[in-house]
Amino acid sequence: MDAIVVGAGIVGAAVGEALAADGLAVTVLDAEFPGAGTTSAAMGHVVVMDDSEAQFALTGYSRRLWSERAAELPPDVEDECPGTLWVASDEEELEHAVRRSHFYRERGVEAEVLDSAALEKAEPNLRRGLAGALLVHGDRVIYPPNAARRLLSNAVVRGALAERRVRVEAIEPGRVRVNGSWRETAIVVNAAGVGAPELTPGLAIEPRKGHLVISDRYPGFCRHQLVELGYLKSAHSAGAESVAFNLQPRATGQVLVGSSREFVGLDRSTNRRLVGRMVRRAVDFVPALAALSVLRTWVGFRPSTPDNLPFIGEVDEGVFVAAGHEGLGITTALGTARLLADLVAGRVPEIDPSPYSPLRPMPEAQHG
Ligand SMILES: Cc1cc2nc3c(=O)[nH]c(=O)nc-3n(C[C@H](O)[C@H](O)[C@H](O)COP(=O)(O)OP(=O)(O)OC[C@H]3O[C@@H](n4cnc5c(N)ncnc54)[C@H](O)[C@@H]3O)c2cc1C
Repeated sequence: MDAIVVGAGIVGAAVGEALAADGLAVTVLDAEFPGAGTTSAAMGHVVVMDDSEAQFALTGYSRRLWSERAAELPPDVEDECPGTLWVASDEEELEHAVRRSHFYRERGVEAEVLDSAALEKAEPNLRRGLAGALLVHGDRVIYPPNAARRLLSNAVVRGALAERRVRVEAIEPGRVRVNGSWRETAIVVNAAGVGAPELTPGLAIEPRKGHLVISDRYPGFCRHQLVELGYLKSAHSAGAESVAFNLQPRATGQVLVGSSREFVGLDRSTNRRLVGRMVRRAVDFVPALAALSVLRTWVGFRPSTPDNLPFIGEVDEGVFVAAGHEGLGITTALGTARLLADLVAGRVPEIDPSPYSPLRPMPEAQHG
């Protein structure tokens, strides 16, 4: 059976790899080149999240799949396992951390609560007087564009074709249109990220812009992925824009500072005011950041959905979607690919696919 995957971001690359592993004759097409889209703009935090049971199921499953293949990832994927410290500013947030630690431990995810003194010891550059933190062991950091390239090259080793600079103009059951001509195929997978609704009209995906800032090399500046517990408020705020403290140690010794969220379409310009807010938020948590030199700032577009869950599944006969992963597509690429390959093959997936069905009813998007 033939399959065409549209989009060679981390999701399309992972889907291509999984379908090729099942013995399908796969072609992965990208309008630009592998990893050219949101994947290149991401932080690469592979993180278990618990905003909903369905989000927990997919992130937990996918994180396990990343950990299982850690030994086979080449050095340029920069895979590390620093864990995540969810920082609590006050007692109320610390109580939330305790509740989350129970939720994780009951479901087999290793997590512990640190008090203020233990947090100071774990991350000496955090400001004094924080209430504590939730430490989630096993969360990873990878370098997303190289991870995507690796997954795609695994697909190619299994016989897949990868074509760059091929823009798909339309998708129909059994075929895709490129340069006005139709290419026939049994299976089509729309993994075009924020471009997915152009090919599957009605798919509720909207670009949610984010900025990141990267520093020069300061090895050891921080040791864990650091995120404020208020992050979820930012990630799911209905408002038009928000920032949250999110700091990542890179394998290169650099420090990656995030994150911002705004709905402004595909405007690539740097919102200096919002970056200013984002950096001030980070300096508020880590005062020593103010002394580091910054090398670069960039933007990317999270493919967001109204209920914060991706679309994974069949929308028409032989036409599948794997898109809409918002800020978790690096984390969930491997789980998405397994789920999708199981659905294509008619196998029973390891996790229930129904919460991610592209045909599920959608709440109205609330932002504006
Ligand atoms: C600032 C920021 C930080 C982030 N941090 C993290 C993080 O720490 N952890 C995490 O898990 N996630 C993170 N994310 C989210 C993550 O980057 C995305 O969820 C993920 O990259 C989506 O991957 P994708 O393959 O669906 O889309 P993309 O990477 O955008 O890939 C889609 C591909 O489709 C191609 N395409 C589009 N239309 C067509 C067409 N018509 N024909 C052919 N090709 C087409 C594009 O060229 C592109 O290469 C972050 C995102 C941002 C913006």
